[in-house]
Amino acid sequence: MQSQNSGLIGAIEAGGTKFICALAQSDGTIVARARIDTRTPAECFPDLAAFFRESSEAHGPIAAFGVASFGPIDIDPTSPAYGTFTTTPKPGWQGARFHDVLDPFGVPFVVDTDVNGAALGEYLHGAGQGARTLAYTTIGTGVGTGVLRDGRSMMGFSHYEMGHIHPNHDRVADPFPGWCPYHGDCLEGLVAGPGIIKRWGKSLDQLAGDADKIELIGGYIADLAADLVLMHMPDRLIFGGGVMKAPGLIEAVRRRTLARLNGYIRHPRLDAGLETYIVGPALGDDAGITGAIALGHQALADR
Ligand code: ZN
Repeated sequence: MQSQNSGLIGAIEAGGTKFICALAQSDGTIVARARIDTRTPAECFPDLAAFFRESSEAHGPIAAFGVASFGPIDIDPTSPAYGTFTTTPKPGWQGARFHDVLDPFGVPFVVDTDVNGAALGEYLHGAGQGARTLAYTTIGTGVGTGVLRDGRSMMGFSHYEMGHIHPNHDRVADPFPGWCPYHGDCLEGLVAGPGIIKRWGKSLDQLAGDADKIELIGGYIADLAADLVLMHMPDRLIFGGGVMKAPGLIEAVRRRTLARLNGYIRHPRLDAGLETYIVGPALGDDAGITGAIALGHQALADR
């Protein structure tokens, strides 16, 4: 019994509205799971610690933790501020640190972004399988892209912030100035859910019959897709998140990406209609926690 449970992984998917916590066996089977509402760290962290303490008493010792979190957060393991929230506007979270919850367990852990975690989940068990270089983009209340190489997330001095590139803003068809507090009409300011509601009063899902609006938003997202191809040459692009569920949007993204690239990149990876190259996610809501478990395994492997 002891040997069977010696490799339990504690996993945390930290989101803006909820934390999903899980305890998993080495084969990925989840033996305990909880949802904790996101409040201030002073309110959430004791609940997190209690869940892992109690589930560990029931199922066995925890060997490592993986955390896939909202940000901005320091994910550089060599940084003194590793695991610390940096400039997040979320009240109480700036300066909060996962070490405060996890250090008392005395086991290794890895902290990465939510989008990198979801990318890893899709790489291992979903739509990213077999893609040595994988770009996973989520378009929901915000926009973010994670790029993996051989199942490891890539970064520079910090995690990537590709949601804030500037697409070609069609100011005639779309005079909306964008809502990003830093850049106005960056990609996030133009295509994330709140910006769509601000300018049209409805979600893109509810506007699916309006082909011009789908094409406009698809064009902005395609600017990112084309930039991802040019900068990273990924084997596949996955686009997920609430906004991407609008009918017809992924088809518009494929069409507009082809137009942007204009035949410049020729490679068997890019099929004629980009139907196997630009795809939706396969794991749905479980991508994040699946990725967090995988990050825990990385913590064990890197120990
Ligand atoms: Zn921005």
